[in-house]
Amino acid sequence: MDFSGLKGKFRGEIQDSEDILKTYSRDTSLFEVIPEVVAFPKDAEDIKTLIQFVTKQKQEYPNEQISLTARAAGTDMSGGPLTESIVVDVMRHLNHIREVGDGYATAEPGVYYRDFEKATLEKGQIMPSYPASKDICAIGGMIANNAGGEKSLVYGKTQNYVPSLTVVLSDGNEYVLKPLTKSELETKISADHFEGRIYGELFKLIAEHHDRIQMARPKVSKNSSGYNLWDVWDREKEIFDITKLFVGSQGTLGIITEATLGLVKVKPAQQLLVIFVRDLQTLPQLISTVLKHHPENFELYDDKTLGFVFHLLPSFVGRVGAKNVLELAWEFLPEVKMMLTGGLPKLILLAEFTGESEGEVMAQALATQKDLGAFHDKTRIPKDEMEARKYWTIRHEAFNILRSHTSKKKTVPVVDDIVVVPQKLPEFLPKLYGILDEYKEYMTYALGGHIGEGNFHVYSILDLGDKKARNIIPEVADRVYDLVLQYGGSITGEHNDGIIRTPYLERQFGKEMVQLFEETKRIFDPLNIFNPGKKVDGSIEYAVAHIRTS
Ligand SMILES: Cc1cc2nc3c(=O)[nH]c(=O)nc-3n(C[C@H](O)[C@H](O)[C@H](O)COP(=O)(O)OP(=O)(O)OC[C@H]3O[C@@H](n4cnc5c(N)ncnc54)[C@H](O)[C@@H]3O)c2cc1C
Repeated sequence: MDFSGLKGKFRGEIQDSEDILKTYSRDTSLFEVIPEVVAFPKDAEDIKTLIQFVTKQKQEYPNEQISLTARAAGTDMSGGPLTESIVVDVMRHLNHIREVGDGYATAEPGVYYRDFEKATLEKGQIMPSYPASKDICAIGGMIANNAGGEKSLVYGKTQNYVPSLTVVLSDGNEYVLKPLTKSELETKISADHFEGRIYGELFKLIAEHHDRIQMARPKVSKNSSGYNLWDVWDREKEIFDITKLFVGSQGTLGIITEATLGLVKVKPAQQLLVIFVRDLQTLPQLISTVLKHHPENFELYDDKTLGFVFHLLPSFVGRVGAKNVLELAWEFLPEVKMMLTGGLPKLILLAEFTGESEGEVMAQALATQKDLGAFHDKTRIPKDEMEARKYWTIRHEAFNILRSHTSKKKTVPVVDDIVVVPQKLPEFLPKLYGILDEYKEYMTYALGGHIGEGNFHVYSILDLGDKKARNIIPEVADRVYDLVLQYGGSITGEHNDGIIRTPYLERQFGKEMVQLFEETKRIFDPLNIFNPGKKVDGSIEYAVAHIRTS
């Protein structure tokens, strides 16, 4: 491709060295897609220049596959920031925190969440939808994926914390998106320009298909699949909010240049209650009992995770704050005792209560423990901070640690982010384990995630150099997604569709909803400038052809 048309106009860098292309050919998904170039815009003006350039190329050479794919920190597990055309890296220059106020902060998309949080914590606040990857991901990716995490149980996902977005759309202009009243919407629609057309066509689409769209909303606690058309138009309050659609749209509708984000006050005290589950049949009652006591986090890992931890114990010593392996091994006495008296529990659940004082949170943990005792006797309040840290380190770090200890075999996301309502878990989980166990010759796995929301991350370990191992990937996805949908779930609660799940959207939502997604994409991006193949027009063949081999 000839990029000379950008000379003298684009002020950032355009790079295509082998090293750069290799780095940007991967995220943390299964895939490798080599881009043509990587552009590092200096600011929104540079992004506009890129859009004008791509538009012109598309008009002059309609057969050329040129497009723009935004990339923040590249920790996406679905292939969202991968492209064969132009990557637009927002990390190098668009990385400023503009303001931290009371209950909100404004930042550019290339700000690492860890830096953003440092700034918000100075005012005792956080954005509570941060993902488990909070130390390595950035604001732009969190918004574009509608990320969620351990606090989403109480606070919800990123879409609840985006009062306004500044974006560059496909006409090459920058716009501010925020909730509009009906009369504000009418004013926008009546204006004879690109923005007015978008608002008009989108409103018409959503109003005409209102019932179908509402019926398609996944009936689970969280979802990042498809375009979130169901939250844009609130008929009762008469509020039209395009940010709800833009959040979670994986850079397919435009490029975010700045965001104002909602913050909440951090609660100073917390207390963990650990629950050991041997019998999966007890889960629905157990979960509803715990939820009645309003924990802020309610997480899980399974016996397979614990097996990996025992295997890699020395790597946990420093992280847990133990002096040596012996001291850490001593911390596992409760698990060892259980092993000797009936076997390891199938699941370990972590319920954390937060509040204003230690007395308050301990009272909540004890009351929950008492309620659970009526039908479930294996619970534990950690005796000290180190023991609590042990449980959280396993939940947060086990797979990062495992990843750094696997050489030929890799921990890769295959069916990494499924959601099913907790009431269905006694039936669903044995069937899920049953399917995954059929592939144990090629795939080792373990489960972790957010039990309070029925959101499970399946951590899979495969040798991607082995063709037979690669071949099981679409088969496992097919069978697990069918199972999830049979139980009315979502194929992705947080990690989004990307290359890996876009081909399954028709199964998740049906043909007519997929047509509405295609129409939504056309309204915003008629020339298909932004991140093609994600959310619409994905294929299993493309996905399989781009599974990496190392
Ligand atoms: C160990 C690990 C744990 C994880 N845990 C979680 C979790 O708990 N919850 C969760 O939600 N996710 C999780 N993830 C996935 C991922 O880290 C998050 O979704 C994260 O928010 C992505 O941010 P990023 O900055 O890395 O985005 P990227 O990977 O760079 O991009 C993600 C998507 O956003 C788009 N995008 C980026 N910047 C822009 C922009 N400026 N404008 C428009 N589109 C843009 C990209 O095109 C891409 O489609 C995890 C990943 C790892 C590796």
